[in-house]
Amino acid sequence: MRSIKEYSRIAGQETIEEIEKLGSYLSGKIVQNINSTPVGGGVAEILSRMVPLLKEVGVDARWDFIKGGERFFEITKKIHNALHGVEENISEADFQHFLDVTDENLKEINLLGDIIFIHDPQPIGLIKVKNKNGFKGKKFIWRCHIDLSAANPKTFNFLKKFIEQYDYSVFSSPLFAKKLKIPQILISPSIDPLSDKNKDLPQATINEVLERFHINPERKIITQISRFDRLKDPLGVIDVYRLVKKYVDCQLVLAGGAAADDPEGTEVYNEVLEKADGDKDIFILNLPPVSNIVINALQRASSVILQKSIKEGFGLTVSEGLWKFKPVIASAVGGIPLQITHKYSGLLSRTVEGTALYAKQVLQNPEYAKQLGENGHNHVKHNFLITRHLRDYILLFLKTGFWQDTVYL
Ligand code: UDP
Repeated sequence: MRSIKEYSRIAGQETIEEIEKLGSYLSGKIVQNINSTPVGGGVAEILSRMVPLLKEVGVDARWDFIKGGERFFEITKKIHNALHGVEENISEADFQHFLDVTDENLKEINLLGDIIFIHDPQPIGLIKVKNKNGFKGKKFIWRCHIDLSAANPKTFNFLKKFIEQYDYSVFSSPLFAKKLKIPQILISPSIDPLSDKNKDLPQATINEVLERFHINPERKIITQISRFDRLKDPLGVIDVYRLVKKYVDCQLVLAGGAAADDPEGTEVYNEVLEKADGDKDIFILNLPPVSNIVINALQRASSVILQKSIKEGFGLTVSEGLWKFKPVIASAVGGIPLQITHKYSGLLSRTVEGTALYAKQVLQNPEYAKQLGENGHNHVKHNFLITRHLRDYILLFLKTGFWQDTVYL
C-alpha cells in the first residue's frame, strides 16, 4: 500500500498536509463502511483504496460486508436496475425477503462505528437499529452511488423509508439527488493514481499482458472494461466494433469479471460470446476478481476506450481511461458527462452509429486522439483523484458532529 506522502507529487504537498491535519481531528473515531461485496464494481474499488488511506491519516476506518444468498442478490440486482429506471418485476415477497435478510445481517454484524457509513441499497435497512439502545450518538450516513434521476417510484419509495432515517445522504452529482427530508451532500467518486489499476506501467508489462491474451500490439485496439452487465451494453460495443471495422482495421477487447453481488454476469457473458460468433479479433476476457495490473495494461495498450453504458452511476472506468491519456468515447448518461466535456476531454455519444463514427475519427486521427486524452487526463487530475475524495469524506465525517472548535486549517 502506498503511503499518503507519495501522493504529494500529484496532489501537492499542501493538500496532503491539510488532509493529515483534518484526519487528526478524527483520531480514534471509528468510521465503519458497510457494503455488499469486497470485490467487483466501483464501490469495492474505491473502498479498497479509501479505507487504508483513512487509517493512515488517523481515522479508525473499518470495512464490513453484509451477507446474502443467491435470491437476495437477485433481488438487489433488480432493485439496482429499477433505481436506474429499468422495468423490473419486484414482488411483495421480494421486498419481504430483502427485509428478512436485513434482519439476519443485523443479528450478525457488529455495528461498532461512531459513524456508520452504508454504501448503496443492499445494506440500507441496517438503519433499523438507529433508535435502539446502544446506538445513541452514533451517526449514520447513506452513500448512494446510483443515478436515481429516473428511479422506479415504487422501488424508490420502498427505500425512501430507510434513507430518511439516516443523518446524511451522499450523492455523486446534483442531477442524481432526490427530494429528501435529510441533508444531501455531493461528493463525486475518484480513482487512485498510485494503485495497481492506475499507476504507470513499464512497456514490457503491457506487452506481456497483450501477449498472454494473443492480442496484436501492432494493430489498433478498441477496449471496454466492465462487469458483464446489460446496462454496460457489451452487445452494443460489438455492433460498434463491426461498424468501425468496415473502415479501420482493429481488434476489440471486452474485459470484465464477476462481482459477488451481481448474479447476472454469467448469462450476459454467454450472450456476448454468442454475439462475437468466434471472431478472432474479438477478445472476451473473463477476468479473475482482482486483475488490476491486467486491466491497467489493457487500458494503456488501447487506441480508444469505450464506455457504452445505457445507465451508469459514475463510471470509474471513464476516469481510469482518461487518466491514462486515452481518448474515451462514452454514453452521455449518469456521471459520465461530469467526466467528459464533449469534443474537449473525450467524446459523448448516444447511439451505436455515433459511437462508431467517433471511434473511426479518433482511430484515423492520432493527433486529435492525443489532444482529447491530454485534456481528459488534466480534468481527472483536478477533479477525480482519491486525494480530493479523501478530503471530502473527512470533512463530511467532521460535519456529522465531530467538528470541534479547535479545528484550524
Ligand atoms: N473492474 C475490475 N474488473 C473487472 C471489471 C471492472 O476491476 O472485471 C473495475 C473497473 O476497472 C472499475 C470498477 O471495477 O474500477 C467498475 O466501476 P464503474 O464505476 O465503472 O462501474 P460499476 O461496476 O461500479 O457499475
